[in-house]
Amino acid sequence: MALREILTSEHPALRQKAKRVKKVDASLQKLIDDMIETMEDAPGQGLAAPQIGVGLRVIVIDAKPGVIEDEEKEEPVKLQLVNPEIIEKSGEQFGEEGCLSIPGYVGNVRRALNVTVKAWNRRGKEVKIKASHNLARALQHEIDHLDGILYTDLLEKPEDLFRLNKKGERIPVFEKQDSEKKQEPIPV
Ligand SMILES: [Zn+2]
Repeated sequence: MALREILTSEHPALRQKAKRVKKVDASLQKLIDDMIETMEDAPGQGLAAPQIGVGLRVIVIDAKPGVIEDEEKEEPVKLQLVNPEIIEKSGEQFGEEGCLSIPGYVGNVRRALNVTVKAWNRRGKEVKIKASHNLARALQHEIDHLDGILYTDLLEKPEDLFRLNKKGERIPVFEKQDSEKKQEPIPV
């Protein structure tokens, strides 16, 4: 396994449509292992292959389902998915997302509340995953990366984007912080 560099939002590789994986082999499994190591090191809830400059439809996820109120008690769900496709979605949720390719920012975006995803697992076996809440959000976010879409593309209004300061507080990007400061440019 090896740590890979995570590309940030201005990199053109993040804007390309990734290609379907045609066959499962040792190099694909090495890619998945590198992605897991890179995601865990960051740490992040998910990573898509284009974020490390590989234009293939592969994602890894390590996210709490977010379906029960006491988040502390939830075990994260770990997924390694090849050629994932959303085949059903329903409902709506509006909430916060961050991205390893847009460090230091979070934004509120609208997503489906429930999704069903069809994919291969790392051995090429077809799997179907039903997810809601946070896990559904993570799946939609990572699958968007495979089509060159970043969460900042989905912001309904600029005020939904926040910069994180050193204390982890959310500072609105598109409101003046005080009379001295000018508005910051959107990071993508
Ligand atoms: Zn992301």
